[in-house]
Amino acid sequence: MNYLHTTHPKNSTASNLIDPQGRHLNYLRLAVTDRCNFRCTYCMPKEGIDLKARDNIMRFQEMEHLLGLFLDLGITKVRITGGEPFVRKGLPDFLTKINQYEKLETINLTTNAYFIENTIELFQKIKIGSVNISLDSLKPDVFYKITRRDDFERVRNSIDKILLTDLNIKLNMVVLKGVNDNEIVDFAMLANKYKVEVRFIEQMSFNGGGFSGEIYSADEIIGTLQKFFPEMVEHPQMRSTARLFDIPGFRGEIGIIAGHSRTFCSTCSRLRITPDGTFKTCLYDHGAVNLKDMLRSGKSDKEIKTAIRDAVAKRAKDGFESQHRTQQKVHFSKNHLSMAQIGG
Ligand code: SAM
Ligand code: SF4
Repeated sequence: MNYLHTTHPKNSTASNLIDPQGRHLNYLRLAVTDRCNFRCTYCMPKEGIDLKARDNIMRFQEMEHLLGLFLDLGITKVRITGGEPFVRKGLPDFLTKINQYEKLETINLTTNAYFIENTIELFQKIKIGSVNISLDSLKPDVFYKITRRDDFERVRNSIDKILLTDLNIKLNMVVLKGVNDNEIVDFAMLANKYKVEVRFIEQMSFNGGGFSGEIYSADEIIGTLQKFFPEMVEHPQMRSTARLFDIPGFRGEIGIIAGHSRTFCSTCSRLRITPDGTFKTCLYDHGAVNLKDMLRSGKSDKEIKTAIRDAVAKRAKDGFESQHRTQQKVHFSKNHLSMAQIGG
């Protein structure tokens, strides 16, 4: 089905997605694959994760269809993520296609930058809001230790190239105690040189099992930065899930994402669809309903929209409540999911 038409006001069944806490949900994270060319230690074990069978992964047509329904319901922003989204063949065509959806105001991307060199031109042609690039070290040996891949130079070259454009770039660094925590200041200095948001992310437990690392907390990250940049000031308002800071004279900004501490839930406007079509209203839940399965079993658009609204109506107030509910349901005490399966 062609969903361009649903963006026309006459055809749209306009309604806003508002959860029980009154949060307006306008942001959908769409994970287009669970596959990845890297094996970041904080995301998955070295042998990788149990991948979904290809037939159990959403087809682009199905994603287009679902995105059309979400736009009708009030979503205006989408983030394409994964796994590594660019391992999925056909992604540039998908981006070009959804770029035509009038109601879609912004397309954001999260990538490890390995494959992006030849797609930068495309990014400049479509309504990209931001490209979030994961880079956890500026040192080739530490990069290798974290990603388990010897690709620092290729990634760095692509990042250097994209930083020369006027695209809005965010650099994501997951802070790992004893591994890259001594690079926090070096990363912050990138916001001095470039007009980028450098975002420090607290490590979360979604690493495919065996979570062992000690957390370098958001408060510790802020403390480290304040010691080196005492003039650093916090913005009065958070942006969705990030606390933002300015360092006088810097071209870019600093963001802190307390994914483990979950201090941002009150402003979270994100919904998620995992690569197999599971609809999640919180990072920490186990999914409300499988939308791909609904599509494949011939459910109508109306039924699918009702399922989406029902899930939103039951959205937990925060990640702790979500986790609590899930534990009660499936009796698990250890999180074996990888962020690549959820779409971080
Ligand atoms: N492969 C792409 C990338 O790395 O940018 C997109 C998918 S990745 C799952 C999305 C984001 O999740 C990345 O910024 C990554 O650093 C972050 N991430 C993965 N596992 C994480 C964990 N256990 N804790 C915190 N952040 C994590
Ligand atoms: Fe791949 Fe991204 Fe996970 Fe690293 S964080 S293993 S690049 S999905």
